[in-house]
Amino acid sequence: MIDGIITKGIGGFYYVKTDEVIYECRARGKFRKEQITPLVGDKVKITIDSSTKQGVIEEIIKRDTEFIRPPVANVNQAIIVFAVKKPDPNLVLLDRFLVMAENEDVDVVVCFNKIDLDEKYLLELKKIYTCAGYPVVSTSVKNKIGIDTFKDILRDKITVFAGPSGVGKSSLLNETQPNLALKTGEISEKNKRGKHTTRHVELLELDFGGWVLDTPGFSSLNLDFIEEDQLQFLFREFVPYIGSCKFSGCKHLNEPKCAIKEAVLHNTINKSRYESYIQLLKEINQKRRY
Ligand code: GDP
Ligand code: ZN
Repeated sequence: MIDGIITKGIGGFYYVKTDEVIYECRARGKFRKEQITPLVGDKVKITIDSSTKQGVIEEIIKRDTEFIRPPVANVNQAIIVFAVKKPDPNLVLLDRFLVMAENEDVDVVVCFNKIDLDEKYLLELKKIYTCAGYPVVSTSVKNKIGIDTFKDILRDKITVFAGPSGVGKSSLLNETQPNLALKTGEISEKNKRGKHTTRHVELLELDFGGWVLDTPGFSSLNLDFIEEDQLQFLFREFVPYIGSCKFSGCKHLNEPKCAIKEAVLHNTINKSRYESYIQLLKEINQKRRY
């Protein structure tokens, strides 16, 4: 049997990249019986019919991670890209992406691009997200800054990109390897679920090692599935304080002796992160009411 990775799936066919070539494969019927659908990103073992050169997926190696939207297995990391300017970063949106990533339990790197446009604000942004516990990389495609570090982050991993349009995701990827096409798509709440189930995703191979998903991640950013009392755990720097509030079940809003609010006062939790928490909490509560 030959080892490979599924890079694409269309109409019941799976395209499996092996050391040498890409094979068009069918999946064994046993997977359907076991209700397992092979996913892009799955590491598989295949056999090849010597006359037709068609492959059959015989085995799927146990998945490390499994994304629902986009449907892909074994993603190692999400890189969340925002620009320091043009467009101005919406930090609530950035924190929303981080909440989605935390919820998927995937490693995340925050990338600030277009640092040629505003180095001062970059310092502020870097401080907020480093303090919150995230690795931060800063880049300028225009002035070719941070590109090697960016490449090191991508090397030998399966990466999904996320971030609003216009921040430079395609430019960054193209800078690390020309002609690698990221499908751009407006990320909005309007994208309905149904659309994504028919959408094809594909892994693109990096010539210096690694894979990137051709479709931006977290295409739906609604928080429906997050419970009110769960949200606080998705702000990773809140976690050490959660047990120390006076009231169990503290939502960190107006309760007295709240450890999170005290941490905000002492600047050990950043105010903008706390404000995002409040805003997302409100949103979750509103949805529950209707
Ligand atoms: P995407 O929608 O996130 O894929 O963004 P694009 O890669 O299409 O980039 C949007 C625009 O930003 C393009 O006009 C790029 O030339 C520009 N851009 C990308 N990176 C930089 C950068 O580092 N600095 C500046 N000043 N502009 C950039
Ligand atoms: Zn509290």
